[in-house]
Amino acid sequence: MNKNEHFSKVSRHFFYLSAFFLFVFLSGKPIFAHERYYVKWVSDGDTIVLADGRHIRYIGINAPEIDHENKKAEFFGYDAKKYNKTLVLSKMVRLEFDKETHDRYGRTLAYVFLNNGVFVNKVMIEKGYAYCLPRRPNIKYDQVLLQSQRNAMLAKRGIWRNWKEKKERYWGNRRSKRFHYTTCIFGKKIAVKNKIIFLRKWDAFWGGYAPCKKCMAGGR
Ligand SMILES: [Zn+2]
Repeated sequence: MNKNEHFSKVSRHFFYLSAFFLFVFLSGKPIFAHERYYVKWVSDGDTIVLADGRHIRYIGINAPEIDHENKKAEFFGYDAKKYNKTLVLSKMVRLEFDKETHDRYGRTLAYVFLNNGVFVNKVMIEKGYAYCLPRRPNIKYDQVLLQSQRNAMLAKRGIWRNWKEKKERYWGNRRSKRFHYTTCIFGKKIAVKNKIIFLRKWDAFWGGYAPCKKCMAGGR
């Protein structure tokens, strides 16, 4: 290899390397996206507090509520909290974000991962401690989470255990992915093109719809 060939090889490598870093930079993602944070508190089945004080709300899922503001705990609320504790309390976690990073309560919205790669949001659903709560624009893992929910439903885990319900009519909203009692004021407002009828809550959950907070707190 003469001097010129050697130089062109070096410059070619330099070019590829620069292109790589430019790509990484433009993609807007940190090169080493592995900052870990210590979980110092578990509030319930879908909310935790980090050592730096940030409150993290898991994206895409909803766990039954525990006692708060004079409202009684929902079925399975404490089981969900307990399980979330066994998963993340006093551990280091990695956070992944979606388009919206905060909710109106100032909580950080995140997908949470353990060191061993376990996807916490997904596991809470998979074990039946939470159900899918899709909310645009944070929909990156919606299909993954819904598949996990269907697995949990089929295996009758957690909130899906001993499922019984009377035949009723519910109105689902294809756009918001919520379902309502037919008496709900929000249910009545659904545009005809977005309206879908469910005869069981089970079917709505299976379709990835979440219960309306106003008319159906808890969903069971
Ligand atoms: Zn409603």
